[in-house]
Amino acid sequence: MKYYMYLVVLIVSQLTWGQMFDLPPIDPDPVISSSPGRSPRTTPGRGRGGSAFVNDDTAEEVSTPAARGSADRFRKPLVPREKTRVAVLGYHNFSETRPVSDMLLRTSELREQMEYIRRSNITVISMQEFLEWRFGTRELPEHCVLITLDDGWRSVYTDAYPIFREYGYPFHLFLYTSYLTGRGDSMSPAMIREMMANGASVGSHSGSHPYPSEWRKHEKVGQEEYVKFIDKEIGASRTRLEKLFGPVDTYCYPGGYNDETMVGRMSGYGYRAAFTVIPNKVSCEVDPMRIDRYMVFGTDPSIFRRAMDFSRAGVSAGSSVRSLPPPPFPVTPQAGSVVASHLPTITAQLGGIGGIDFSSVRMYVSGFGRVPAQVDATRRSIQWTSPCRIYMPQISVHIFWKNTDGTRQHAEWFYSIDQKVTAEH
Ligand SMILES: [Zn+2]
Repeated sequence: MKYYMYLVVLIVSQLTWGQMFDLPPIDPDPVISSSPGRSPRTTPGRGRGGSAFVNDDTAEEVSTPAARGSADRFRKPLVPREKTRVAVLGYHNFSETRPVSDMLLRTSELREQMEYIRRSNITVISMQEFLEWRFGTRELPEHCVLITLDDGWRSVYTDAYPIFREYGYPFHLFLYTSYLTGRGDSMSPAMIREMMANGASVGSHSGSHPYPSEWRKHEKVGQEEYVKFIDKEIGASRTRLEKLFGPVDTYCYPGGYNDETMVGRMSGYGYRAAFTVIPNKVSCEVDPMRIDRYMVFGTDPSIFRRAMDFSRAGVSAGSSVRSLPPPPFPVTPQAGSVVASHLPTITAQLGGIGGIDFSSVRMYVSGFGRVPAQVDATRRSIQWTSPCRIYMPQISVHIFWKNTDGTRQHAEWFYSIDQKVTAEH
């Protein structure tokens, strides 16, 4: 009886949430009938750090939702590697009471998202499983999710960890080493170790989380100074994390900002994979040092929705051309174009879109995050010029706005920079 009530609650909550946010349809074969008495199953070929839920006290775990979650992780059939698509999710901070922002998501919304993943029968994989798939030693189901969390916010321990544990989902923490004090809003190494015993794994997110201006300041001094700075932030942060937590082989660029000098040094430091903030599905052909991620902003439910939509064509192999519907208004540089400038002005003409609340219009650019773009309500446009050269071969631009009726809107496009262009100031 109790179990039926559980099902009813699930179905009702899913309907409300799915309808509200217009989510893609749930898998017609959701796993909701798994027996609570079934033993968790381990999967073959797990290496170091990948034993997300291989737990000693299974006797206790079999009666919890976590046990069901871990047992269900690989119930979907495995497919040849090239057929799998992974949506990498990136989160930051959580709270049920503090005001939401791009970096802060409602804890209850995280729970709803995890519930959506479970109900849709999408496989949540560990970082270790992701790496094994990318490097050719593992097959996965067709649609997978990899959960990552940046910076090391304390709410990951207090709010998100209990949810991941309940669902039996592994998760990967990208930590920057100066934010491991356990004071204020940060987590302590002890909290992280506890989570590592229950599904968490760890990667680096630099030493001090430099913003693009900081990287460029060191680059301006000269190549030697720049390399020294990269060694310290990207190389030394790995060494420090390994001392604290054991082997580390992943990195996540703060703000997604990366360039050829950084990327060229990654494997020398011992990294096998590095992650950006460009929202796209990942295929096994992805450049392992520029892996796309969907950053789940607390203010925009459409991002999670798009991440969960495995039917769309926007699957990227890292540097390949992306196929997305173009924005419904004129933009420069044009969607899909290749520009011969590292310093293009990015514009969107929103004149043809009715009912926009112009105070809400925002622009995000890959590698920069939210940029201080100028919004002109009279000319109905938004515009931003990068203050520095952009080295990334492909740029994604996102425009978010609210309509006067309160509905949230989002459009995005990509353009590429001709890598032969160098002579610019
Ligand atoms: Zn960060």
